[in-house]
Amino acid sequence: MQVRDARRLEQLIVSPHTAIAPRLLEIMCETGTLLEGHFGLDARRHAPYFIRFSQIGWKPAKVDEVAACLLEVAPFASAPGTIVCAETSAIFLARALGRKTGNPVVVTAVDANRQPTATLRTGTLDPERPMLVVSDVITTGRSLLPLLSLKSSPKEILGIVSFAVLSASRFERFARAHRLQSGWLIGATWQIHSPSERECPGCAAGTPILPASEFS
Ligand SMILES: [Zn+2]
Repeated sequence: MQVRDARRLEQLIVSPHTAIAPRLLEIMCETGTLLEGHFGLDARRHAPYFIRFSQIGWKPAKVDEVAACLLEVAPFASAPGTIVCAETSAIFLARALGRKTGNPVVVTAVDANRQPTATLRTGTLDPERPMLVVSDVITTGRSLLPLLSLKSSPKEILGIVSFAVLSASRFERFARAHRLQSGWLIGATWQIHSPSERECPGCAAGTPILPASEFS
């Protein structure tokens, strides 16, 4: 269920960064980062594809390359600060960014649904340093609210960076509403469905649901 066909990947993944897009697609193709199936994101949302960032994360050279691309498109992420991510595959990207910028990494715990919480797991937040929020895959941005709550003002937050953003327009609205800079490398062309036979092709076909949390 890994999508390794370059042509299909090209149809499923979009990137606003035309110069680096071919290399990003190549990395996704080589590592099998895009999964095809019937994924339950949560109780309300099903998706026909899933971006499993750990496929890149476990390969140090590849995750370093992705981090370098991200710093290129989001220069604000290089500023001195503290990198914050939840205990998901985002850790791979956060640590790679930490290696490149020399900034420390703080990891927060996730809840039973593997959603980020504001409870620190490792590291400490220096009140004098601004924070950079790092994710591997963002849908709308809402799940990052607990991380953003670790600082009391947007002025203390450098911004949000992610490998992928699934609902680009909604995420950009979210970032604007929180007065935050944002940077991401790839977007998705597929639709996220409500779990019903009428709306979700996977449900209509009776395909068993794969809980996305098992792949993140
Ligand atoms: Zn479904």
